[in-house]
Amino acid sequence: MTDRYAVVGNPIAHSKSPLIHAEFARQTGQDLSYTAILAPLDGFAATIRDFQQAGGKGLNVTVPFKQEAWQLASSLSERAQLAQAVNTLKFEDGEISGDNTDGAGLVRDIRENLKVSLEGKRILVMGAGGAARGVLLPLLEQRPAELAIANRTPGRAVELQQQFAAYGQVEGGDYAGLAGRQFDVVINATSSSLQGELPPLPAGVFAEGCLAYDMMYGKGLTPFLAFAQEHGAAQLADGLGMLVEQAAESFFLWRGVRPETAPVIAMLKSC
Ligand code: NDP
Repeated sequence: MTDRYAVVGNPIAHSKSPLIHAEFARQTGQDLSYTAILAPLDGFAATIRDFQQAGGKGLNVTVPFKQEAWQLASSLSERAQLAQAVNTLKFEDGEISGDNTDGAGLVRDIRENLKVSLEGKRILVMGAGGAARGVLLPLLEQRPAELAIANRTPGRAVELQQQFAAYGQVEGGDYAGLAGRQFDVVINATSSSLQGELPPLPAGVFAEGCLAYDMMYGKGLTPFLAFAQEHGAAQLADGLGMLVEQAAESFFLWRGVRPETAPVIAMLKSC
């Protein structure tokens, strides 16, 4: 029987996940279906239950339900526990296990696809929301020299510093505090690009050879990537690679098979 998977969110019509997973299944010869499910804003738990009871094997979870999925899971990976957000659910023996593959996807995109090592590097993460929280542990596991978090509401960045201090050299604060400092990798984990805006980032933060990475993706340069290009970043990347890599990590958790991501990234870029 064909195993059933899906992505749940609200809105969901724009999601590229069904296309990505269909490609992974075709490539690896796995017998599965993967659809998109729109859950009512107050009906996430019921949607999950219905899917599980109908024999579904696993779900991806996207905006705005990642935190609810974290609360709902009966067991959690360490990275999901720390992220306080879940993007991958697996249903097995009546249990719901939760994981968060966003950070692994980001790190894999940077290391494998963009060929940038993170070890010993100075990393800046902008934003302190769900996306930032989800990538901090996987970034710290790469043993950077330092990891700074800057946020519009600095208290949220300071909270993350306190929570993640046990895992590496991490500090949180505001954008003004970045004046005079430089970083080798600058990651935009804010939703500012969605509004066509740019966080108040000092222009001098991009060190020689710097990678500027925007988790958002779409046609053309985001406001952050345009700013980074103008102010000396050597390499620019949007979040399309992260999207495909986090999907591959979920696919691996469910099926035990790692799909090839490069052809899928190339296909989406040409769409
Ligand atoms: P949240 O709503 O949880 O957090 C938003 C963050 O952005 C907060 O830190 C907020 O600051 C900050 N922010 C919002 N607007 C501005 C602005 N105009 N200037 C400065 N800071 C701003 O969102 P998520 O963390 O879930 O998502 C962030 C982004 O990451 C989205 O664009 C999302 O699409 C992307 N993403 C991409 C993925 C991928 O696979 N490529 C995976 C996951 C996320 P404050 O705390 O002050 O409100």
